[in-house]
Amino acid sequence: MTAAINALVDLRRAVVQELLLPELAVNNIKAGVLRIDKIHATVSGNKWFKLKYALQEAMSLHKNTIVTFGGAYSNHLVATAYACAQLGLQSTGIVRGEKPAELSPSLQDCLSYGMELQFVSRDEYREKNAQFPGAYVIPEGGASRLGAQGAADMLDLAVPGEYSHVCCSVGTGTMMAGLITAAPRVEGFSALKIAAGSNSIEQFIESTTGRSGNYSLHYNYHFGGYARKTPELIRFMNDFYSQTGIPLDFVYTAKLLYGVLDLAQKGYFPNGSKLLIIHSGGLQGNRSLPKNSLAF
Ligand SMILES: *Cc1c(COP(=O)(O)O)cnc(C)c1O
Repeated sequence: MTAAINALVDLRRAVVQELLLPELAVNNIKAGVLRIDKIHATVSGNKWFKLKYALQEAMSLHKNTIVTFGGAYSNHLVATAYACAQLGLQSTGIVRGEKPAELSPSLQDCLSYGMELQFVSRDEYREKNAQFPGAYVIPEGGASRLGAQGAADMLDLAVPGEYSHVCCSVGTGTMMAGLITAAPRVEGFSALKIAAGSNSIEQFIESTTGRSGNYSLHYNYHFGGYARKTPELIRFMNDFYSQTGIPLDFVYTAKLLYGVLDLAQKGYFPNGSKLLIIHSGGLQGNRSLPKNSLAF
């Protein structure tokens, strides 16, 4: 069971790639990018880590249907559909909103992996959770204690004690919740526009891990909100790729790297800091961009 779940991805590919950039030289900062994006093209990055213990629990409870939730461009839905197909499980994806005339590439992939899709209104979506007797329900984005526990395992791929700060993107905050249980300090960069003082991520982290402290959340790098972008962000992605060879996605990791380099340049990180930046994957989101936007 565990072996089958582990066999879905190739963790040996998740190397730490050192960044040599002028923004970091300002304060003698060392930074490595943990390339979780490379473990698999589809169950990319943090989605596998967030799913693995939930899938293990489902299988040990002999549940053969997984129900989960997401939007039309959800990396989590595609990852779940793929993993279930490989593990011989049925999957159902509950998708927020009307069924569109043309399905997004992500939803088409879900169907091709055999996921059954149900489209529900935003109100119904909120109430959907309890309606699947017999199935194993995974919350949207894998946002649960087991999701966080899986994300903590990412740090097994880096040298322990080597880094002063772990930097990650934040959607639901599940990955960050896991990382703060395993790292001395975590800097999270919200991909969503969240009103200052809402504390929703902090509350989620505290309720899933019992932790507070040892982290900071940065809310100024959302570029207009979730899955929004500006020409500046796209330009940054192309420049970053030409300097490092690392492809970023515009929903999460581009905003993370932009934020980390901006803060580094502004002297946020103490002199000599050692950053581990999590490349959490998600590159298939770039398929929604107009052709030729990106140099990779
Ligand atoms: C889903 C996703 C995230 C957000 O993870 P959370 O655990 O929901 O905060 C970050 N990066 C990438 C690439 C993702 O696909």
